[in-house]
Amino acid sequence: MTFFIIFLGIAVWTWLSTGYIFYLFNFMYIGISICVAMILDILLPRKHKPWGRRISQILIGCYMLVFLGFFGRENMQIEGFFMFVFLGIFAAATMHYVIAKIIGPLVFGRAWCGYACWTAMVLDLLPFKVCSRGRYRYFGIIRYVHFALSLGLILIIWFVLERRPVYQSTEELYWLLAGNLIYYIIGIGLAFKLQDNRAFCKYVCPIPTLQKIGAKFSLMKIRINKDKCNDCGICEKVCPMNVKLLQYKGLNKRILSTECIICSTCVNTCPKSAISVNFGLDAGLIDFLNFAEDGSNIKSRQKNHTV
Ligand code: SF4
Ligand code: SF4
Repeated sequence: MTFFIIFLGIAVWTWLSTGYIFYLFNFMYIGISICVAMILDILLPRKHKPWGRRISQILIGCYMLVFLGFFGRENMQIEGFFMFVFLGIFAAATMHYVIAKIIGPLVFGRAWCGYACWTAMVLDLLPFKVCSRGRYRYFGIIRYVHFALSLGLILIIWFVLERRPVYQSTEELYWLLAGNLIYYIIGIGLAFKLQDNRAFCKYVCPIPTLQKIGAKFSLMKIRINKDKCNDCGICEKVCPMNVKLLQYKGLNKRILSTECIICSTCVNTCPKSAISVNFGLDAGLIDFLNFAEDGSNIKSRQKNHTV
């Protein structure tokens, strides 16, 4: 209910501030999709709970990509956002980036990545849901290089080539198609190569460059109840982003890592029901993550506990 009220507020605010009634329907649809996920999360048995989130990904991801992108002919990729900013057009893509990726993370953290992204919508269906090896420490730099290259490309097109794209044109559609095709090819290829569905999110996607700024201060985060937790380490084993949840618990903090995508996998897997999503005020400055180079101890900790 809280989510629906928040999205209803965003829907009314964007409608009244822009004068476009489209935004009222747009954000209400997104709010309803997330509520469907929440309701399924409550109703489904533990084993099937991830389907609530996946259905939300499909409802929102397909709507954004197919309806706004393909039919609306807006380049929803990050290059499209940069271009709309230069053009001074407050398009659906601009609104999407501002709400979902710049301001939204102050409230929802990186829940976009868990519940709505059209790239992750496909990646999460692949078979490598758990990467207990940990993540590769220095691969993460690729996402910042990607961000810089995308911005650089648009700067060259704008200032050097002096080209001005036509809003909602076939050219934009080609940008969108090409960009997404490249994302899917790299994302699926990396998932199989590294045996990790979320490898693209950890290393290549440029979007977290924007999201991680607001997500540090996110009101919504994951919390471990110290009294219920028995340190079994299952939560760290199943975390698709390799967050060291127990290190935060040890410091009596919520999960402050901006790598957390609020996917609720840990919440739904904890055998002691010690993990929950809650709202509060704090800021995350350090990412405690399990890295492959450190020799992930997730498996060994698991062996020492009976769940
Ligand atoms: S990191 Fe990128 S690809 Fe992954 S879920 Fe977030 S926006 Fe989507
Ligand atoms: S800490 Fe929990 S909610 Fe966050 S990414 Fe890991 S499993 Fe998902």
